This record gives sequence, structure tokens and C-alpha cells, in this order.
Amino acid sequence: MIPEDIHWNRTAPPPPTCEKLGGNHKSDVVIIGAGLTGLRTAISLAEAGVDTAVLDAEKIGFGSSGRSGGQCNPIWRATPAQLHKKFGSQQAERLISTTLSCADDLFDDIRRYEIDCGAEQNGWIQAAHTCKAADGLKELYASWLDVGARISVQTTSQTHASVGSDAYNFSLHHEKGGFVQPLALTRGFAWAAQKAGARLYEQTPAGKADRKGQKWCITTSHGSITADTVILTTNAYTDDLWPGLRQTMLPMYSISLATAPLSPDQQAQVLPGRRTISDTRLAIFYARYDAGNRLIFGCVGSNDSARTLGGVGRLLSGMHTVFPALKDIDIECTWAGRIGVTQDMMPRMHAPAPGVLAGVGFSGRGIAMTSVMGRSLARKVLGGHNDDLPFPVSEISPIPFHALSRRLVPLMAPSMSMKDRASVAWDRLMPSTSKEDS
Ligand SMILES: Cc1cc2nc3c(=O)[nH]c(=O)nc-3n(C[C@H](O)[C@H](O)[C@H](O)COP(=O)(O)OP(=O)(O)OC[C@H]3O[C@@H](n4cnc5c(N)ncnc54)[C@H](O)[C@@H]3O)c2cc1C
Repeated sequence: MIPEDIHWNRTAPPPPTCEKLGGNHKSDVVIIGAGLTGLRTAISLAEAGVDTAVLDAEKIGFGSSGRSGGQCNPIWRATPAQLHKKFGSQQAERLISTTLSCADDLFDDIRRYEIDCGAEQNGWIQAAHTCKAADGLKELYASWLDVGARISVQTTSQTHASVGSDAYNFSLHHEKGGFVQPLALTRGFAWAAQKAGARLYEQTPAGKADRKGQKWCITTSHGSITADTVILTTNAYTDDLWPGLRQTMLPMYSISLATAPLSPDQQAQVLPGRRTISDTRLAIFYARYDAGNRLIFGCVGSNDSARTLGGVGRLLSGMHTVFPALKDIDIECTWAGRIGVTQDMMPRMHAPAPGVLAGVGFSGRGIAMTSVMGRSLARKVLGGHNDDLPFPVSEISPIPFHALSRRLVPLMAPSMSMKDRASVAWDRLMPSTSKEDS
């Protein structure tokens, strides 16, 4: 049987030493959640001289950040026009301009903090699984090109060559995309935050926040910490530490596998430019290389194990569909993680009480956007005005029927996968111009 094990644990450099929080402490800011968002926030605050503590219930990178596909996919599913309609012109303009620079900003950070995380910025292929999906990508292309995104259309033959199979007939190439080893990046941020003066505590679950005069007191398993400001960066692993926050996202699941290293011949065929790929399926397929030339392939899962409800079978058949050249390759491991999905698939920055902020809901596009969120949370603490931030500061607004939807989540992956198979079969029956090489 294929072992269930997070591949990134095997290849990430070690984290800094962190203790459990014991006794009663004080800080200016306490951040709850030591993933990419919390740690990037901590770097900016500590560099600005703010006394900052970060707590995680588990280990640094325990959540999505240490399980991620690590693909930097630097635009939204929404078009700029949709963002304008949703947020209003000025807010949308700030969000769009931050979006256009987010990938370069991430790779700049990696160089600035000298983080050894196998970062490569070779581009991202966004591939259409049907002709209808190709029409959607064409609209996305035209609208994002118009605002300055570095994006191009790949014809059928270019798509076949860059993917390394004829699984897709149309794709976009996003020049700014790339990949990182996500746990190594998270640990690199932890080192940088600690070097800047932040205090990091692991195995320290935070309980509810209590107001004590002008301050907040967070009780933990072995002590407490009192701070002027509390920042919640717990994303899809959010428990009941702040009323309603957990209900703003559905915890969807993503599952991944790591193959054995590909031979030079296989590498010359499969994603030969070492770009990342993700497609337009509901149960999205995504893939990338790691630094050891293994292919990491992922899709949607059902819970915290990749094995549930046919997950491993779905991973294998997905990989064989997209990359038939890999049908006999060995699989080293599979794993699962949670994705915090909001109703409109856009992240949320909340300020639910004086001195409390939250940044959550990256909806599967967190690798670069968690850094944007981290810098924004820090800017807000440092006195930044809401009108200068890329994300609107909104009320906590639970998803209607959250408890029921949550119970249905495990069934979503198999049902989305069935719908995808039906739409691909239908597409084969219906000829379309998107299949032409023009
Ligand atoms: C399998 C998978 C593949 C993905 N692939 C991609 C991808 O290719 N590209 C992309 O852009 N995004 C991807 N994502 C999404 C991306 O990884 C996330 O958006 C991002 O890592 C979120 O980081 P975070 O810091 O906000 O949250 P997390 O990394 O989840 O950190 C939250 C932390 O909060 C801690 N916590 C929770 N409650 C408490 C408490 N009460 N007290 C103390 N600590 C607490 C948890 O232990 C956890 O460590 C993927 C996600 C998964 C799971």
C-alpha cells in the first residue's frame, strides 16, 4: 500500500527551535496560526519593531502551508471587471495591482530572506478540460491582459508540447507563475520572523480571547498571553476560538501524491519547461516538479486522509489521464490537507472587534496571497488606513447552512469528479473551434 505521509516533511530544511508557551506572557501583538499568513505578518511586524508572538496548536507549517501543492498561481478566478463590480473601483484597482505584483513579491522575499525552498519561477499553465472551459479561459485571458497581466494563449500544439500530452487542447501561460517547496518556505519565514525578533511557540493551542480592559488575554494549554492586538491566521484549521470565523469558510480537501523521481526521458516529455499546471475541472487536477524531479500531482479529496472515498484511485487515474507517460511510475506517498473556501472564493480580512484582526479564506490560491495578506495585516496594525489595503476589511459573515454543507463536503469530491468525467465525454461528442490550432 502507498504510505500516507506528507512528502514535504522529507525534504524541508529544519525549522527554528520553538518552545511551548508556559506561564503568563505579554506582547504587543499575538498571532494565532504559524502558517504562511501568520509568519509573513510576524516578519513585517517584528521588522517594524513591534513585540510579536506567534502561537500554533501544532508545529510550524502543520496546516495547509506544510501540505500545499506550492504552486504560485498569480491571478484570481474572477475577471477584473467582476472585481470592480464586487468591490467598487478603488478597492478593485488596489487588489488588481497587488495581484499583478504578488508573484514577483514572493520570489523577491525568498531571495531577500535567503530561503532554501526550491523556488522556480518558470510559469503556470492553466489548461481547459473542455471547449466550454476554454471559452471561460479566453475571457479570463482578455480581461487580465487588458490590465497588464503577463499572460498568453497557447494553441493546441503549444499546449500539447508544454504539458507533454494531448490531454488538453487549449491553455493559458502565466509567465509569473512558479513553485516552491511549501513547508520549506513556511519554515524559512519562521527563521526570518525569529531573526527579526518575533517569539514563536509551537504545541500551544489558543483558547478563546478575553477582553481585559484595553487588552486581550489568550489562554493557552499551559499559560496565557496578553496583547494589545490579536491576529487570527488559522484559515481552514480554524476552530471555535472566535465566534463565527470557522463558519466563514468551508473546509474543502485537497489530496496529493509524489511519484518516484522521473527519468531524464520522462522529464523531457512531462512538463518539459518545469512549469506548473492546473486545470479547469471542478475536482481540479494540478501538477508540478519538486527539486528531486518527482512529479507532485493533486486533486480534490474528501477529508484529512487521501484514501477516503476513492481518493488514491482518483489521484492515480487523474495523473494517468494527464500524463500517460507516467502510467508505470512508482508512487512514494500520498497526503491530504484542508482548503479554506469562501463563498466567492476570495480571501477575507476581518476586524471583528477593536484590536482583533483575521486574514483567512484563500480558497486554494494562498501561496502568494498569504504574503499579500500578511503584509496587509501588519500594515493595518501599524496604523494603515483601510483605504490603502488590497483587501476590503469586512464583517464576519457566516456561510448560510454551514453545518449542513460541512457534512456534505466528503461527498463533493466524488460527485465533482463524476461531473468532470461527464463534461469531458460530452465535449468529445461536440466539435468546437477551441480544438483547432489557430
Ligand atoms: C493539499 C493542498 C494543496 C494546495 N495547493 C496550493 C497551491 O498549489 N497553490 C496555492 O496558491 N495554494 C494552495 N493551497 C492553499 C494554500 O496552501 C493555503 O492557502 C495556505 O497555506 C494557507 O496558509 P495559512 O497560513 O493561512 O493557513 P495554515 O497554513 O493552514 O495555518 C493555520 C495554522 O493555524 C493553526 N491553528 C488553528 N487553530 C489554532 C488554535 N486554536 N491555536 C493555535 N494554532 C491554531 C494550525 O495548527 C495551522 O498550523 C493548497 C492547500 C492544500 C491543503
